[in-house]
Amino acid sequence: MRPEIQALAAYPVADASGLIKLDAMENPYVWPHDLKQAWLQRLQQVDVNRYPDPQADKLKISLRRYLGLDDDKMLLLGNGSDELIQMLAMTLGGPGRSLLSVEPGFVMYRMIALFTGTEYRGVTLNADDFSLHLAALLDEIERSQPAIIFLAYPNNPTGNLFDRGHIEQIIQAAEGVVVVDEAYAPFTHDSFMADIERYDNLLVMRTLSKMGLAGLRLGMLAGSSQWLQQIDKTRLPYNINVLSQVSVDFVLQHQAVFDEQTRNICRQRALMLQRLATHKNLTLFPSQANFILMRLAAGRAQAIHQQLKQQGILVKLLHGSHALLQDCIRVTVGSEKENLRFENALKSLLLDNQ
Ligand SMILES: *Cc1c(COP(=O)(O)O)cnc(C)c1O
Repeated sequence: MRPEIQALAAYPVADASGLIKLDAMENPYVWPHDLKQAWLQRLQQVDVNRYPDPQADKLKISLRRYLGLDDDKMLLLGNGSDELIQMLAMTLGGPGRSLLSVEPGFVMYRMIALFTGTEYRGVTLNADDFSLHLAALLDEIERSQPAIIFLAYPNNPTGNLFDRGHIEQIIQAAEGVVVVDEAYAPFTHDSFMADIERYDNLLVMRTLSKMGLAGLRLGMLAGSSQWLQQIDKTRLPYNINVLSQVSVDFVLQHQAVFDEQTRNICRQRALMLQRLATHKNLTLFPSQANFILMRLAAGRAQAIHQQLKQQGILVKLLHGSHALLQDCIRVTVGSEKENLRFENALKSLLLDNQ
């Protein structure tokens, strides 16, 4: 057994049965009945005795249109973007190489670095607003010459967009690949997708999970073929199953439904921030994603997380995961009804037994 694996705790997924689930950035809305019926009809034509299209070429045509990607840019698909992170680390990482990201950031970068024997470097964000510490990042790039740099834009779990100019300086300073992870692209106004024309060491990653298809597992990586052709060699054959290929293609033909859901989520995010803004004992951090990072009264996060759960509401406890996340929870923006249940429960807990 590799000791570094034996020392790990498995990726914790909380049991959410029966709870209002505001912990994992899922879309809260179920599909309209007619849409579901049409989808099921489409699925009836699928032959599951056959392997899927290995390159998912038909699906890629729809995805290119969705992403606004030119035909000369390559597109690589993963079983969720998590699998793409793994493929990137298998291609570019390994013993004697390093992977750079920021802390607090998305945990899978660090985990997958460890799985692949790649050294992980995490540069701490600025404590007040979770912005990039540019000088520290440029220093670290010069010192360790990372083979891959991951920057989530917007960042998880903090919800903010980093400064675009800072990211461009990082791309220019890096000898290795910079992956801008745009998992929350549907909920923000900016993107680096068009910038892959300008920088040949820039790759942009997306996922359909946060816009409403977490269960289908589809991640996308766009960039120049110089990199993607090599990364594609580490992809397991048939990694995108037939049901996902057909379902995603179906969804992209009905994109208006999902765009409307996304607009609703953004509206709910604004309402939540507005309703909670005046509450004392609570600091809200601005969000460009479908979740809100909140700092609770000092020393209360663990107990409040537990009490919310007892009241049937599951949020993500971040206190204890990083020094900058002291007293923090992360709350996914749900449906209006779910958000109000959460807000009312939180308000009364913050007033209680201080
Ligand atoms: C959720 C998330 C992912 C993983 O998405 P999947 O496509 O579901 O694997 C990747 N990056 C960030 C920053 C995320 O928050």
